[in-house]
Amino acid sequence: MPESPEHVWMPQNFIHDAVEADLAPGGAYAGMPVHTRFPPEPNGYLHIGHAKAIFIDFGTAEKYSGLCNLRMDDTNPTNEDAEFVSAIQEDIRWLGYDWGERFFFASDYFAQMYENAVSLIKGGLAYVCQLTPEEFREYRGDTAVPARSPYRDRPIEESLDLFARMRAGEFPNGAMTLRAKIDLASGNFNMRDPVLYRINHMHHHRQGDAWCIYPMYDYAHPLEDAIEGITHSLCSLEFEDHRPLYDWVIEHAIFPAKPRQIEFARLGINYTVLSKRKLRALVGEGVVSGWDDPRMPTLCGLRRRGYTPAAIRNFSERNGVSKTLSTVEFAFLEYCLREDLNITAPRMMAVLRPVRLTITNYPEGESETFPVENNPSRPEDGTREVTFSRTLYIESDDFLEEPIPKYKRLYPGNEVRLKGAYLITCTGCRREADGEIAEIYAQYDPESRGGNPADGRKVKGATIHWVDAATAHDAEIRLYDNLFSDPDPDGGEKNFLDYLNPHSLEVLPHAKVEAALANVCAPASFQFLRQGYFCVDNKDASPGHLVFNRSVSLKDSFKISDAK
Ligand code: ATP
Ligand code: MG
Repeated sequence: MPESPEHVWMPQNFIHDAVEADLAPGGAYAGMPVHTRFPPEPNGYLHIGHAKAIFIDFGTAEKYSGLCNLRMDDTNPTNEDAEFVSAIQEDIRWLGYDWGERFFFASDYFAQMYENAVSLIKGGLAYVCQLTPEEFREYRGDTAVPARSPYRDRPIEESLDLFARMRAGEFPNGAMTLRAKIDLASGNFNMRDPVLYRINHMHHHRQGDAWCIYPMYDYAHPLEDAIEGITHSLCSLEFEDHRPLYDWVIEHAIFPAKPRQIEFARLGINYTVLSKRKLRALVGEGVVSGWDDPRMPTLCGLRRRGYTPAAIRNFSERNGVSKTLSTVEFAFLEYCLREDLNITAPRMMAVLRPVRLTITNYPEGESETFPVENNPSRPEDGTREVTFSRTLYIESDDFLEEPIPKYKRLYPGNEVRLKGAYLITCTGCRREADGEIAEIYAQYDPESRGGNPADGRKVKGATIHWVDAATAHDAEIRLYDNLFSDPDPDGGEKNFLDYLNPHSLEVLPHAKVEAALANVCAPASFQFLRQGYFCVDNKDASPGHLVFNRSVSLKDSFKISDAK
């Protein structure tokens, strides 16, 4: 696997313990390279939950100098689309993982899966069943009553003939299925003669109309693993009850490899949903602008929001790998992003809700520049020049005509520091006819260049940010909040669409940003002083139209001591 210096090292976990036991002398895979796979179904975009699986699949292979395949699990033609295939590849590459040449489509194994099914029938291990879907349900039994199928003991030759005719397209959808002959009385319902193939006259995104029978996941997945020589098939916990079936399929398969399935807990995050079906519904209902809406927990949405691969990998690493289901706080994901951007993002000034400030004793038509460090924590990032003149923009909430208690920003008579520039004292404001503040007035202390008074007096007022009206650029700024107002929007019987946060997006179309931001493009990220971390929107920003997304605020509601 190609080296990626940014990769975090996976801490030891129960999967690694199992892998090491298998590799040890006498173990099931002694002397073999570890071989894992990440098997997304191309029916949607990857989300942050998939990042956990990617981290585990690729990370485990990397840790043991093994191999990891990227496999499109495209055995179900419903909802699958080539659009998703390339998007999935893009997202995994972006996270920093590389499958090299090891890229596969499960549908390429349809012929082998079919051959394997014929072998099962010949061995008396599978039969064609003609129960209708209604009968199937009726004959399913319950914990006390075994399932039934009158077709179970039909002659092998008859099943072989019917299966061939199913494949040839002689029967309509639902007319019959191929079932494994395992145990109709099993306490594990997955073992009650599970369906292996069903008829589905549907166009497949790669196979076209070559097939009208499609293998079920529980049958196809172990075979895909065996065909690719996978040693460890790592998947989420909902497959635990399916493991006996996985093992049964492997045991009776015509392929020599004997992969082992190990399950881990899925990632859950509060205030969001992590299911492609639900994410697709959000897109379909027009609740969000698309799969890459910055409020979506998809990797493309997080990327557009300004998330970095390093932040997501750190998040995955720190959440660890366990067998216990737990919901992680969204705030922890934000914490990981803040931590990364705090080191890398240049500091800039942007005024989100601008109001004009005129320095009445600053000469008209004049201007000067101040050198500003791009990133105080990284002197090597250099400095830039910021212009200053008589008319500036400041945040409208940095001024109050009638101050409230403890308000330290601008109000008539109060002195504040303009970040990196001068001390100013407010002298009043002018209002529009409708009462809106049109302009704020202040006087500056010419002896305070850089922000420090010559006489050493103590300035009690706040330090506020500003931009020079003469050189500022217009920008649209988008602020985001949780997509849902409920921490567990799809818990229990809840319909997640009933818990949307109506304030999840706030657009500020008239922001003003400093001149240095005039030509930035995605994926650049910045810290806007006092406002948070922002990135250039990778879709709607263009040379004449600056658009920034707030990736995360500066305020940290998350304590690392809360982190697991
Ligand atoms: P979804 O319900 O979102 O469609 P899925 O499991 O059906 O998820 P797949 O494309 O089949 O999606 O998943 C590929 C791999 O990603 C599987 O091995 C699955 O176990 C894993 N995976 C999916 N969601 C999560 C999650 N929230 N946490 C950890 N792993 C996940
Ligand atoms: Mg799935």
